[in-house]
Amino acid sequence: MKFNKIVDTHVHTDNSFDGNHSATFMCETAEKMGLRAVVFTDHVEIDLFKSENYFKVAKQAYFEVAKARSAFRGQLLICAGVELGQPAYDTQEADRLLNTLNYDQVIGTVHNLRGQPDFYFLDYNVTDVHETLLQYFEELKIMVDWGDFDTLGHLTYPLRYIQGDRQIPVDLSRYARQIDYILKGLVEKEKALEINTSGLRQNLKDTMPSADIVRRFKELGGQYITIGSDAHRADHLGAGVREGMTIAQECGFDNVTLFQKREPVQIPIK
Ligand SMILES: [Zn+2]
Ligand SMILES: [Zn+2]
Repeated sequence: MKFNKIVDTHVHTDNSFDGNHSATFMCETAEKMGLRAVVFTDHVEIDLFKSENYFKVAKQAYFEVAKARSAFRGQLLICAGVELGQPAYDTQEADRLLNTLNYDQVIGTVHNLRGQPDFYFLDYNVTDVHETLLQYFEELKIMVDWGDFDTLGHLTYPLRYIQGDRQIPVDLSRYARQIDYILKGLVEKEKALEINTSGLRQNLKDTMPSADIVRRFKELGGQYITIGSDAHRADHLGAGVREGMTIAQECGFDNVTLFQKREPVQIPIK
């Protein structure tokens, strides 16, 4: 089989509202599948940090990963991460969380515009798609300027629903300047870009972002690529990661990256 060192850097457990399986069960499955490493990244939505009591959830998720790590002392490397949603909407709370829990890897993401529900819930018959995407990329620019994350997760996330579920075509060249700003920010701050492979098994039938954006990141000097399945259940562990590695390789990357104690560890693609 092509690529024997599978590292999945974006995995949810039942400590995510949309997750299904415990960290322990996910680890058992990953070990059986022969995965090299798993980074658990349960959701913390910073804009709902107080109202949804995310601190408690985050601590529970963190300690369950620590427990799983001490139980699995074999070949499987287990890292404690977080998918930090909308950190720039309340940087004080984001700082408080990151100062309290010693994560290996922080994925920065944007799932919604300020004061609005997740892009999943928007009605694209009445929502202005172009305006929504303009604002989405503006929010990512603000998040990159803030910068306390390791990898930018699922860039182009709204396309999962706009292009994938609703089949509304989007011309991303309209956002090229914004996307360049985001990618250049990642390069300057030595951050990674995630290739999120969940879209491959959903209606989008593509990675987030697609290969052309990964290639542009490389052209601009990007060094680090993380690849994540965004699995919310055990049977999705590692899904699409090999395809993601092929894309990374075709775009000129020789390594994929895993973060440990928030430092990049390069793993050769082979
Ligand atoms: Zn997400
Ligand atoms: Zn996720």
